[in-house]
Amino acid sequence: MPELPEVETVKNDLAPFVVGQRITGLTILWEGIVRSPSVREFREGLVGQQITGLARRAKYLLFQLGSGDTLVAHLKMSGALLVATPDDLGKYIRAVIHLEGDRKVYFRDPRKFARMMLVHDVASVVGKLGPEPLESSFTADVLGRLLDRHKAPLKAVLLDQELIAGLGNMYADEALFAARISPLRPANSLSGLEVKRLHRAIRDVLRLGITNKGASEVTYFRPSGEMGKAFEDFKVAHRHDAACPRCGTPIRRIKLRGRGTYFCPRCQGVA
Ligand SMILES: [Zn+2]
Repeated sequence: MPELPEVETVKNDLAPFVVGQRITGLTILWEGIVRSPSVREFREGLVGQQITGLARRAKYLLFQLGSGDTLVAHLKMSGALLVATPDDLGKYIRAVIHLEGDRKVYFRDPRKFARMMLVHDVASVVGKLGPEPLESSFTADVLGRLLDRHKAPLKAVLLDQELIAGLGNMYADEALFAARISPLRPANSLSGLEVKRLHRAIRDVLRLGITNKGASEVTYFRPSGEMGKAFEDFKVAHRHDAACPRCGTPIRRIKLRGRGTYFCPRCQGVA
């Protein structure tokens, strides 16, 4: 599932291809991909508009349009925005955005959870999200204060987009391993030192993920169709039964609130 580093990579790769371009047409191959407004209104609001900017907030891609409206896209479980369709990725295209000069952006999504919306006020979609963890305003103090307000398991709190934006299952596991803290600890039980370690770990794993252009597990692809290499540097995420790179103990996987959670029981102090 695309998380902050994957969506940031899509934004960075796609921006030079789309920003400044006018939308000349729209092909909808599966109407469910348009969440709001109606497909007719969506098309009318989009076609003829220039894309003036492309931004990311949490896991949302925000295409700013000349009209002042914003095209919001969320890749959800398996979405990809492709500028070319290599042979093996031609299936599962749900929509095509046509641009000037015969450029096309293909919205591929095998599992049909991905969505697009056209909104006047982008705050109606992203207004309630928590802080961006890579911004300078996201300090260890900010993290400590928000963890202090919650006694739920730490991992579940880290995944709550209204508390911290953009962190998902893979990078939360990686951050907790790097900080050597159990995913099961109550969020408000961390010492000041542990909060500092976790804060640094969150930023480090996200930055490394972006450097590696995201993690292609199964269905995430860069707009070029290339894979992201971030999973090659994962220490615990999706590495069930592999040895902990720090101590050699087998990595364990449990379900925590329905999400597969990977950790080293020894390094992270899980009994
Ligand atoms: Zn270990």
